[in-house]
Amino acid sequence: MGGPLTATRTARVGVLGGTFDPIHVGHLAVARAARDQLDLDEVLVIPAARPPHKAGVAMAPAADRMAMVELAVAGEPGLRASRIELDRAGPSWTVDTLEALDAAGDGGGGPAELTLILSADAFAGLPSWREPDRILRLAHVAVAPRPGHDPPSPEALPDELRTLARGIALLDGPYVDVSATDIRRRVAAGLPIDGLVPQAVARYIEEHHLYRQPGPDERPASKRGHHVTDPAEPTTAATTTEQPRRDGLPHRKAAPRSERPPLEVARRIVELAEDKKAADIVLLDLTGLTTLADAFVICSGGSERQLAAIADGVIEGMRDEKVRPIGREGTASSHWVLLDFGAVVVHIFTPPERDYYSLEKHWSEAKTVLRVQ
Ligand code: ATP
Repeated sequence: MGGPLTATRTARVGVLGGTFDPIHVGHLAVARAARDQLDLDEVLVIPAARPPHKAGVAMAPAADRMAMVELAVAGEPGLRASRIELDRAGPSWTVDTLEALDAAGDGGGGPAELTLILSADAFAGLPSWREPDRILRLAHVAVAPRPGHDPPSPEALPDELRTLARGIALLDGPYVDVSATDIRRRVAAGLPIDGLVPQAVARYIEEHHLYRQPGPDERPASKRGHHVTDPAEPTTAATTTEQPRRDGLPHRKAAPRSERPPLEVARRIVELAEDKKAADIVLLDLTGLTTLADAFVICSGGSERQLAAIADGVIEGMRDEKVRPIGREGTASSHWVLLDFGAVVVHIFTPPERDYYSLEKHWSEAKTVLRVQ
């Protein structure tokens, strides 16, 4: 890390933006690697209030994501949480953030030299961001590898951007195979997240009931749970309605609980999964065990395509019966898909992912109502 700043020295400031839903040990490792390898004075960790690329995607409220970032960087030398995007109206464009940081300098009247920190997946998408040329004029770029993604390749930048770049540093590591999606998924499934997020963040998630996807009755129209960010983009939740809030963000209103008993809904879902040749279908009755759901339907699909086909088949079949999911998470390429019907949650896995999550083992106290092999 650099020494104390003097009036004559240009502050070297790293900028790590993201959704941070939630912040995890992978993000922190990237921030530390950039700080140490590039000799930065500080790294600003900046949660996006309204990430433009995630418009319409369900996510925890910005205030919660910010609070978790603050907890995660507390006591970390050279890492600082910044609310710059929360305090600005409109979509959180990176170019605007860099512009504002450039104008603000080091906070003490001196200049700041900015380095935008990206991981390989984000860097690959940079040309499609708003004003990438301006971004490259405002900041150096440092790229971190990300497990599961191709190594960063500055040569892949279009010529006109490559000539503008004032230097692209490739960070040597870290290789931390953690994603926020997986963490949300684990919390929703009632699995531990020890070691994936700092302890204080895990406590925050628990105390604020984030990512739990509770049944509709526990889904208050308050700031808890997930909501969507863009009223123009409908969620997959057809029973969801959105109401404008004072800060311009929509709220997800509690979905009406289906008239039909959860186990009856779950049995119908089992039939629909069977129609799509899902393997090893299990219906667990969770009544009295958790507020997450009353029933889980767990099943396997042999290929990514089959996962999508099972999910689509279940959604279409239930739509015919006027029951719609209030959420869908995961993609076929993530090897799992979760359909949230409120009281009934459907988990569709490829066999290795099913083994990895071992939901049936985790919920061994639940009654197995039905098993179709
Ligand atoms: P999600 O799984 O919800 O998409 P994410 O962690 O990929 O979450 P962000 O929170 O927006 O998304 O991540 C902020 C930045 O950190 C992005 O550039 C992202 O690519 C990067 N990043 C996230 N996880 C890792 C990791 N394990 N290793 C390296 N970079 C990461």
